[in-house]
Amino acid sequence: MNEDLRQRANTLIEALPYLREYWGATMVIKYGGAAMVEPELKAMVLQDVVLLRYVGMYPVLVHGGGPEISEMMRRLGKEPVFVRGLRVTDAQTMDIVEMVLMGRINQDLVAAVNAAGGKGVGLSGKHGKMLKVAKQPCEVDLGLVGAIAAVDPAIVGTLVAQGYVPVIAPIGFGEDGQTYNINADHAAGKLAGALRATKLIVLSDVPGILRDARDQKTLVSSLTAEQGRQMIASGQVESGMIPKVEACLDALAEGVPRCHLVDGRAPHALLMEIFTDVGIGTMVLP
Ligand code: ADP
Ligand code: MG
Repeated sequence: MNEDLRQRANTLIEALPYLREYWGATMVIKYGGAAMVEPELKAMVLQDVVLLRYVGMYPVLVHGGGPEISEMMRRLGKEPVFVRGLRVTDAQTMDIVEMVLMGRINQDLVAAVNAAGGKGVGLSGKHGKMLKVAKQPCEVDLGLVGAIAAVDPAIVGTLVAQGYVPVIAPIGFGEDGQTYNINADHAAGKLAGALRATKLIVLSDVPGILRDARDQKTLVSSLTAEQGRQMIASGQVESGMIPKVEACLDALAEGVPRCHLVDGRAPHALLMEIFTDVGIGTMVLP
């Protein structure tokens, strides 16, 4: 018997418990700006996403685009400013955000889903009135940054039921008719909750939550919502990691049983998270 073939069969059999557990499960995947830069890696991530669909799960992709938005802002002579990981968004910045997120990144990811053999459909939170927002309260004025007030996940449910892979840009609508910029982590967390997802998986450019943001060896492999809250309060979790942890807290509060923060730069991180018990990155539990 060919050893290599036997190995392959074994790999599939080892996946069986996970295939059984997650058949029909909705997996909300946040794909981060910082982990999205390398084209080959990106193709692999989308391949993983499409594989999940073909083995009977319902992947829903929510993407960021921070680095590309910042680059475009600088090209147009605007300096990006962040407060607690949120981008201060004036009207002109909102135009840039929408152009880059919907006009470029979303299209690009849909094409990558298609290239991997899936059927991608690009949406923003305005489509189907999915993400309704109110202006984000904050000690400083963040401009057109939206805090999600209501999620109508119906359009996502319709699409996944028909075999499509939704690719969602974090843009929302306000009752005032304005378009708002939403942090992609927040959008993913709320959407995971509204969809009663089985998992929220956040792919970024760090190994997970670090006890010391400057030391990659201080990975926290699992923590509770309460510990997550404490890490934000103590300042151990800062900048772009704050909305990620908040997204996990939101999803958990809505009944999503487990959230994961995983290194999107590691090839096939998504498959390793879903199909093994080893547990890569940080798991956040209620
Ligand atoms: P993304 O584009 O994936 O949303 P962000 O830059 O917004 O990425 O957020 C991830 C960043 O959060 C990391 O690159 C890291 O610099 C920062 N960070 C802050 N605190 C922590 C922490 N405790 N553990 C890990 N990363 C942290
Ligand atoms: Mg971010």
